[in-house]
Amino acid sequence: TDFLERAELGFARSPGVIDEPLQPAPPVPDSTYGRLGERVRAWQAGLDALGVREGERVAVVSHNSARLLELLFAVPMSGRIAVPVNFRLQPDEVQYVVQQSGASVLLVDPELDDALSGVKARHRFVLGEQTETELMRFGVQPRPWSHPDEDATATINYTSGTTARPKGVQLTHRNIWVNGLTFGLHTRAWERDVYMHTLPMFHCNGWGMPFVMAGLGVKQVALRKVDGAEILRRVDEHGVTLMCGAPAVWNTVLDAAASWQGEIPGRDQVRVVCAGAPPPSKTIQRVEEELGWQFMQIYGLTETSPLLTFNRTQPADDHLPAEERARKLSRAGLPALGVKLKVAESGEVLARSNVVLDGYWEKPEETAAALEDGWFHTGDGGTLDPGDGHLTISDRKKDVIITGGENVSSIEVEDVLFSHPAVAEVAVIGVPDEKWGETIKALVVLAADGDADAVDEAELIAHCKERLARYKAPTSVEFRDAIPRTATGKIQKFKLRQPYWAGRDRGVS
Ligand code: ATP
Repeated sequence: TDFLERAELGFARSPGVIDEPLQPAPPVPDSTYGRLGERVRAWQAGLDALGVREGERVAVVSHNSARLLELLFAVPMSGRIAVPVNFRLQPDEVQYVVQQSGASVLLVDPELDDALSGVKARHRFVLGEQTETELMRFGVQPRPWSHPDEDATATINYTSGTTARPKGVQLTHRNIWVNGLTFGLHTRAWERDVYMHTLPMFHCNGWGMPFVMAGLGVKQVALRKVDGAEILRRVDEHGVTLMCGAPAVWNTVLDAAASWQGEIPGRDQVRVVCAGAPPPSKTIQRVEEELGWQFMQIYGLTETSPLLTFNRTQPADDHLPAEERARKLSRAGLPALGVKLKVAESGEVLARSNVVLDGYWEKPEETAAALEDGWFHTGDGGTLDPGDGHLTISDRKKDVIITGGENVSSIEVEDVLFSHPAVAEVAVIGVPDEKWGETIKALVVLAADGDADAVDEAELIAHCKERLARYKAPTSVEFRDAIPRTATGKIQKFKLRQPYWAGRDRGVS
């Protein structure tokens, strides 16, 4: 509530959220913060008229759009709970989320309506002009913004559910508020910034940012289609200065930049915040050198709202050679303000902070397992530098490969393979092996313009052996056309592992 209240009072006539629609979603007219406030009230009055009570769940499945953002404000600000749903889910998965959260209302992006036509909810609406006429109530007595209890649940966000059914992460108003403030602080966001959403807003990265950006009066651009050339065009058109996205996003921009006519837009102006997966050093270096965009990194999870650590170079690092800067920036970073971190004996990173989730929705056992004495178990292995306190993520516990009793970080091997000029994408996984228990396999997508014909399995393995301890080098390399990723750009390693492990137990999945 604080963030929108401020935006509406202080920035009523400033540009608010600009939609970059794909057909058939019509753009929202007059996108100032004043108008955003009016429309948020109209949604709230509509939900009142529908009889949706406080604490009830309202699910929204939508690509990025100004309407989605309005609902992300309107629902929690009126004491209801927003359930933003991943637009990539299959209909039965969306149905599961609606049922498990007990959502009484479901709002669907018109582009997804056909695919999700079988998904049922007590009230189901398609986002668009017709629903606005039916549901939104403009011009009703403006109600004062309510200030829900800080400990009340604001949103339930479902994890991707790699092995079991997804779990609903309950975040409170305080979680989201603290996350927004620390994000604004660490990125040094201010009113002259223009923030573009390159991440899907159903994800928690999606909402930490828009909320604080509203509070600062920052113009926001809701990008629906994540594509390198599109990002460059919009940066140019809107004077974008700040973005947040997974490493894969920046790789697509780098690809597009290679055939971009004229000067790269935003040189020395844009800050990119890399989130969601470990960035390869080569990507960091190329973003800084080829695009001239400042590179920063955050680490966190849905369960931590997400911001746990933040990394940016200091002025004292300006003179460092590019490779050394990239190495420093490839670490997850320093704990964000108010975050306490420790590494357990098992090597797992534990976190304690105001951004840690309240619990998993109606899953007391999973909640108790994740939160021990107030410390949240991240499921990630990592180390804290005793010198400068920076966290380095070594790997997800479930992605670590144990070969012949040695632990190998898939991230470390990927970073080395990615440094080979012919490699465009890479995923490293453990596959069963009679002798070693697991052995290392690399799945590689070759660069379209690289000297792909000249590269073979043996060369890539040799490239790794020159740069890594021998046991860390892959024993096989398979060339693929694509690597499956989530909507937030993360590699779905469990999917890649499945065919090799069919019928066998890996211990961790
Ligand atoms: P699920 O939990 O359902 O498998 P998910 O893990 O993709 O889904 P998120 O909460 O979005 O859901 O992802 C958090 C994970 O992403 C972290 O636990 C970590 O493994 C990884 N991650 C996020 N940021 C970084 C980073 N900067 N460096 C390395 N890994 C990161």
